[in-house]
Amino acid sequence: MIQVTNLSKSFENIHAVNNISFTIKRGEVFGLLGPNGAGKSTTINMMSTILKSDEGEVYINGNDIKQNPNICKQLIGVVPQEISLYDDFTAYDNLMFWGSLYKIPAKELKHKILEILELIGLIDRKDDLIKTYSGGMKRRINIAAALLHKPEILFLDEPTVGVDPQSRNRIFEIIETLNQQGITIIYTTHYMEEVERLCNRIAIMDSGRIIAQGTQAELQQHSNVKEAVEIAFQSISENQIVQLKEQLQLKISQNNLKLIIECDVNKDLSNIISACNNSNLKIEDIVVKKVNLEAIFLSLTGKQLRD
Ligand code: ADP
Ligand code: MG
Repeated sequence: MIQVTNLSKSFENIHAVNNISFTIKRGEVFGLLGPNGAGKSTTINMMSTILKSDEGEVYINGNDIKQNPNICKQLIGVVPQEISLYDDFTAYDNLMFWGSLYKIPAKELKHKILEILELIGLIDRKDDLIKTYSGGMKRRINIAAALLHKPEILFLDEPTVGVDPQSRNRIFEIIETLNQQGITIIYTTHYMEEVERLCNRIAIMDSGRIIAQGTQAELQQHSNVKEAVEIAFQSISENQIVQLKEQLQLKISQNNLKLIIECDVNKDLSNIISACNNSNLKIEDIVVKKVNLEAIFLSLTGKQLRD
């Protein structure tokens, strides 16, 4: 459905996006994950015809965005990183304004606005001025504005930044509902837990490049990061460690009174606990260390996602 090939963009001496390629399938929630400055917004802006690329191609449903920008614009909705609403207008009037830019017939537009306000949970507030809205509510109106012309594809650029936790959950639910209705979603964020919750496939971006992409399971398989349990004991003897190693065919390393056991947590945890009991090791504390995207990012770049 969307094909990005060798896309690049520089600003003076900054290589904001450096030769990236990926495809997005119909009906997916595709996540673009990376720290601030990775090039996510520049990528989204090029894909949505807001910004011209230096090199590379983007095809949307087989249409080249350079050759057929107007066809592409009809297919996509964009929720930009910056809020673009008029503070002194009501929510309803803001949406009327955005809808008129798409030349949607008035009757159809009014109907669509009410339908979307219902979906985003703000129908009761439709006649309130935007300046009385919270950051999260403004975001939801921004999402509504991007949906008025019934796009098949929705781009959301860090839609939860500066949003309270309740609105954040609301935004997730809206995205899930839209996706269930068949809309393909492209979602950028620097919060790994958001892509873990929402996305079918992920591209991890850093310094203008895509450093890994795939489903979460694929990213985990290809990374060197292993799952582990970390168990703290009251005391440990050399002999007990030897006994444990005899019972478990797993990599075990020691850190004072803790043992770190690399394993498939779901499969091995009960065996590990039995083995500790057999060796008379008294467990004080146990921490499960699942492989998450944060750990994968750290192993690929040597950096934390959030600095
Ligand atoms: P992200 O959205 O991942 O935070 P951006 O795409 O906004 O990253 O930015 C990528 C890099 O390009 C950053 O170093 C940023 O400072 C730079 N950049 C983005 N837009 C411009 C611009 N209009 N002029 C100059 N530099 C820019
Ligand atoms: Mg950005």
